[in-house]
Amino acid sequence: MNRIPFIAGNWKMNNTVGEALGLVKELTKLLDGLKGVEVAVAPPFTALSEVSKSLKGSPVALAAQDLFYEDKGAFTGEISPMMLTDLGVKYAILGHSERRYILGESNELVNRKVLAALKGGLRPILCVGETLGQRKLNLTFMVVDDQLRDALNHVSKEDATKIVVAYEPVWAIGTGENATPEQAQEVHAHIRARLAYRFGPDAASEIRIQYGGSVKPENARELLDQPDVDGALVGGASLVADSFAKIIKAKSS
Ligand code: PEP
Repeated sequence: MNRIPFIAGNWKMNNTVGEALGLVKELTKLLDGLKGVEVAVAPPFTALSEVSKSLKGSPVALAAQDLFYEDKGAFTGEISPMMLTDLGVKYAILGHSERRYILGESNELVNRKVLAALKGGLRPILCVGETLGQRKLNLTFMVVDDQLRDALNHVSKEDATKIVVAYEPVWAIGTGENATPEQAQEVHAHIRARLAYRFGPDAASEIRIQYGGSVKPENARELLDQPDVDGALVGGASLVADSFAKIIKAKSS
C-alpha cells in the first residue's frame, strides 16, 4: 500500500491572526512546487477563518486543534464540526496529550469527538501515546492499545481509513527529546497490527500513522524513513516556516 506521507503542524495556543497570516504566507512560498506529501496546519480557532482564506488555491490543508461533539446548542466556549467544515477545515486533532493531561479529557470523550468529526465530514488526527512513567513500567503497548480501542469504539471499517493516528509519546512532546527511529517504528508497527485486528489488514495498511514529539529538521528524515512512520505531527518546529518546510521536504519526492 502506497500511503501518501502526511505532515501536520500543530500551532497550539500561538499566533494572532496577523502572525498566522505571516507564517502561512512564508510557508506556502517555501512549499511552492511541492510533490509527494500532504501538508496541513492547525492554527488556533481564532485564526482559522483568515488562514483558510489565505490558503485558498494552495495545497496546504487546514486542521483544527479540537472540536466538540455536538452540532450546536448551549455548550459555552465550544466549537462544532459543522462550524469547522464551514471554514474549510479538513482535519481535527483529537485526544492530544495536552488536552488529556491538562484539561482532563478521557478516552470516552475523545471517542465522542472522533465519532462527531467523522459524522460531520472531518478527518480525525487521533493522538495516542504513553507518559515517561508508563514507558519505564513497560506499559507503552497497553496504554496505546487502550487509547486506540476506546477512541475507535463504534467507528466503522469505511470510516477507519479516514482517520490518521498520531503516535505521540508524551515524554517527547515539547521536551526536545524525540523517540529514536527504532522506538517509533516499534510502536507504529504495533499500532498498525492493532488496527489490522480491529478493521482488517487492508484498512490498516491504508491508515496513516504519524509520529509526533520534538520532530525537527535534524531528526525528521531518519524518523520519516521508518516503514510504518507515514508522516509527522509537529508542534514547536511548525511555528517557524523554514524549519517546518525543511521537515516537509525531508519526505517530499
Ligand atoms: C505536538 O504538540 O503534537 C508536538 C509533537 O509538539 P512538539 O513537536 O513541540 O514536541
